[in-house]
Amino acid sequence: MNTVSFADLKLAPQILKALTESGYTTPTPIQAQAIPLVLEGNDLMAGAQTGTGKTAAFALPLLQKLLPHASASTSPAKHPVRALILVPTRELAVQVEESVKAYAKYTNLRSLVVFGGVDIKTQTPHLKTGVEILVATPGRLLDHIEQKTVLLNTVQVLVLDEADRMLDMGFMPALKRILALLPRQRQSLMFSATFSDEIKKLSEEFMNYPTLIEVARSNASADNITQKVYLVEQSDKHQLLAQLLKGDDAKQVIVFTKTKLTASRLAHQLQREGVSADAIHGDKSQLERMQALDAFKQGKVAVLIATDVAARGLDIDHLPMVINYEIPHAAEDYVHRIGRTGRAGASGTAISLVSPEEEKYLVEIEKLIKTQINKEKADLPRHPARPQREVRPERHEPSRGYHTPAPKKPSHDPWFDKPYVPNMSAPAAPIKKPEAPALGKPKAAIPALFQRKPNTAA
Ligand code: AMP
Repeated sequence: MNTVSFADLKLAPQILKALTESGYTTPTPIQAQAIPLVLEGNDLMAGAQTGTGKTAAFALPLLQKLLPHASASTSPAKHPVRALILVPTRELAVQVEESVKAYAKYTNLRSLVVFGGVDIKTQTPHLKTGVEILVATPGRLLDHIEQKTVLLNTVQVLVLDEADRMLDMGFMPALKRILALLPRQRQSLMFSATFSDEIKKLSEEFMNYPTLIEVARSNASADNITQKVYLVEQSDKHQLLAQLLKGDDAKQVIVFTKTKLTASRLAHQLQREGVSADAIHGDKSQLERMQALDAFKQGKVAVLIATDVAARGLDIDHLPMVINYEIPHAAEDYVHRIGRTGRAGASGTAISLVSPEEEKYLVEIEKLIKTQINKEKADLPRHPARPQREVRPERHEPSRGYHTPAPKKPSHDPWFDKPYVPNMSAPAAPIKKPEAPALGKPKAAIPALFQRKPNTAA
């Protein structure tokens, strides 16, 4: 296969200069396919997962097409909205606009991002100064439309980014309202990781004979990501996570949870254990989410715990690992989650902690990605610092779980960070529930297993 360069794609020198500064040398496959088609004026329906370089695939030709309209004038009238990029989440909106700004650095084209969760009044003055490229989440764009702070009748190019997720998030009615306000004569580009029937219907409604391109099989997960599953009891996941986070690959990790509550709880637990962790989820303010994300991007926070919605579209350069603390119930979300790592050709690792209750979702994921993921039973030391594991026989039914046998040798107790020496003289098995001490019996009579050693660590 011939390797094309950005210059082969006939991009303007101002854009090429910005690309060189961004450190891009060769176009990714989606860029090599999409850029010429968009420059020719085609509508495009592109199947591209996140991490394939899809933002530049639409942003670069879009900028090139708008170049003849670039103006150094300060008059707002000289900067009407010519390109509208709709995205599902605030984080993605910020990232897309950052990319557009970087690629437009040597042009007079202006860009702006608007999204909800922040005071609308702070966005209005920027809109009024005029921008050619507007990146927006649908809800906030409708707010601006209602307040008459934006006009869309000059839009020449529309981009729907992560269209599948927009529909998942219930944006269809908002999209239809917005689409009705755009000129019929325009170019439309749609990017989506998956092509459901609903997406196809949407494309029929608002696109004009789009050219279909795909860089990977739809729904397939990226080849450069090593996937692995640990079979583990739900109650042991925290211990396994703590162990995984000590690994060499785990210098910067996104950990996914299903619920906001688990995300918060896990972040607090890890912080207490000395891990630099933070959480992003829908209950956090936009400011908190952006601060957490910035700290993570700058390496100040090593572990970012996120729910699906909050993490959608996150673009972290060279993220080596993602961990699914809980696997998603919608198989497509698995593809989106692991797409955070292994971006733009880099390699990455995606680890999923799967409890017996979650195995049915794993089956669906494997069907979707048409791959059997490597599975391993989690090999965790049974540590008696949590006495209920040792003394409640009902939690040891071997047929129900993935428990590994108790270690015979003295083991390290990760919960208290000091060596634990089990009482070898105590009978190992069968472990009987000790009888309750008689009322009034002195404390010393409580069996040794129940007594936690005082923590002498500094
Ligand atoms: P995206 O799929 O648009 O979210 O892009 C994923 C990542 O790839 C981003 O960090 C981009 O900065 C990076 N990227 C995009 N295009 C290229 C390229 N041609 N060469 C190297 N990195 C790229």
